[in-house]
Amino acid sequence: MEWGTGTESTLLMLSTVLIGCAVVAVQAFLASPPARASTRAAASSACSPPASGATSVGRAGGSRETQPAQSRAADVSEVRLDELRALVKGQIIVDPEDPDPHASDATLRRFLRAVGGEDVKHAAQRLVSTARWRFENKPFLWTCEWCERRPGHHTWRQVGQDKLGRPVIYSCLAQAATHRYTATCAVRHMVYAIEQAVRTMPDGEDGWLWICDFSGFTLRACDLSVASGVIHIVAAHYPERLALFACVNAPRLFMPAWRAICKLVDPRTTRKTRFVASRDEARALLCDILPAEDADWTMDELTANLVRPMAVCQSCDGFWRPPSAGATHDPRGTPTYVQRYLGADRARAGDCLRRHRPHPNIALSLAGDDDAAKEAVPPVVLAPRAPCATAQAS
Ligand SMILES: [Zn+2]
Repeated sequence: MEWGTGTESTLLMLSTVLIGCAVVAVQAFLASPPARASTRAAASSACSPPASGATSVGRAGGSRETQPAQSRAADVSEVRLDELRALVKGQIIVDPEDPDPHASDATLRRFLRAVGGEDVKHAAQRLVSTARWRFENKPFLWTCEWCERRPGHHTWRQVGQDKLGRPVIYSCLAQAATHRYTATCAVRHMVYAIEQAVRTMPDGEDGWLWICDFSGFTLRACDLSVASGVIHIVAAHYPERLALFACVNAPRLFMPAWRAICKLVDPRTTRKTRFVASRDEARALLCDILPAEDADWTMDELTANLVRPMAVCQSCDGFWRPPSAGATHDPRGTPTYVQRYLGADRARAGDCLRRHRPHPNIALSLAGDDDAAKEAVPPVVLAPRAPCATAQAS
């Protein structure tokens, strides 16, 4: 396990530090919650000019992380690529069932980038180790037993794609049962989501984006063992996959800590992270990286998840369910994502290993099995339950 190498591992370790900082900051955060967002009418077009005070999000526009993978190929020299190819020849165990068998040049480039592009021997060791791990553990067949037993246990889910077609994963602390998380269950769900997200990546792209909504953040979410477990598996076996980590609604007192940390870490690490402190900043960032439809959806989701008490249809009891008739917002994902992966296009896609599976509870719901799952463990009781801002809970 290589904790100290690779931009992504550093980033994730940094996230752990930030979570630790939140323990100190949380009291002040709770005393000054984010401004309540306005209605959908105000967010009807997330990419239209903000009413006032639009704030640039710095390097998001035209940044390296928002450029096509083809333009980043120069990060790894052909000489080093040839060397790595020669070193791992005959050592990559290829599982015929694996939809992502880790023998392609794109994978070799990722593992080279993870070690800075030069340490070919180290990259080879990591790649061979990951191929063996995939062969022995078959992560591409994993699901999340925790979500199956307790629907909505995890909120981490793909909701759309960015302007390059890369999968966008959204998570919201207010929707999740974070106080029940363990390292084992968090790893299981994250691996499931990454494996499924890879199946939606367009040819030539190998990254995904994570929009983390901190609304609902509490001390209970500060379990470092959970963060450590996730860091371990992602750093070891999914290096250089994370293209952008967008932190929305983070506590304000995060920012001084973040600026201090930025002076101590590799700029390649900080370049992948955006903290947005206001609604206008969130809109600017989302419009920079996402198609208009996806930006609109995300702004609506952020808005809905700030409402207290949280509507059932947005909560862990409901975000994975189809919206009621007449609803204008579907928390399962953007209209295109729903159409392509949950709707008519999914039905036509047939069943194969490469077919994307959505959040486990969305998948169960589509299969008509969500009621059976809810019977296994009593659902989380949320009280009081308020009607959804845009639709009544089903
Ligand atoms: Zn789960």
